[in-house]
Amino acid sequence: MTEADIRALVRTIPDYPKPGIMFRDITTLLGDAMGLTACIEQLAAPYREVQVDAVAGIEARGFILGGAVADRLGCGFVPIRKKGKLPGKAVGQDYELEYGVDVIEIHEDGITSGERVLLVDDLIATGGTAAAAVKLLRKLNAEIVAAAFVIDLPDLAGRKRVEALGVECHTLIEFEGD
Ligand code: AMP
Repeated sequence: MTEADIRALVRTIPDYPKPGIMFRDITTLLGDAMGLTACIEQLAAPYREVQVDAVAGIEARGFILGGAVADRLGCGFVPIRKKGKLPGKAVGQDYELEYGVDVIEIHEDGITSGERVLLVDDLIATGGTAAAAVKLLRKLNAEIVAAAFVIDLPDLAGRKRVEALGVECHTLIEFEGD
């Protein structure tokens, strides 16, 4: 499946969740059997011959893709969740939103020190969420192999923000604007 094929399966919903936002809805892509397989295969492809000890996925769409990528790579999956959702002892990282701050968490025993981790989410926009996830994983002394996303919104420069933290980004398709 080509980049154009994957792109055509993403549905754009204008003005969601608020006016001015073009929401890139991947439910249509995930709901297509070939689209789903292509995403999983292409997200995992660069890391097949590389040591990856765990895939960390960001709530919630990163769980769907991250779990499948972990299966492809033959490693385990570790969830990064919104504050207060994990049942065990967790470590957190805050990050700024347009209005206020949010916190993401990971189980403190989710990653063993030195483990090589691939971070997965559906989309990178400003990179605020992914940058917080990188910092969170580093609190557990993870070695981050890369961060992989289906969609990049290059106008919001999230990729540059994550790469400035020394983490390589792998993305499948791009959309202009925000
Ligand atoms: P950011 O922290 O700005 O990189 O935002 C990334 C997170 O917000 C991802 O988990 C996305 O699912 C979601 N997100 C941000 N912008 C959009 C958009 N235009 N369409 C769909 N999801 C978005």
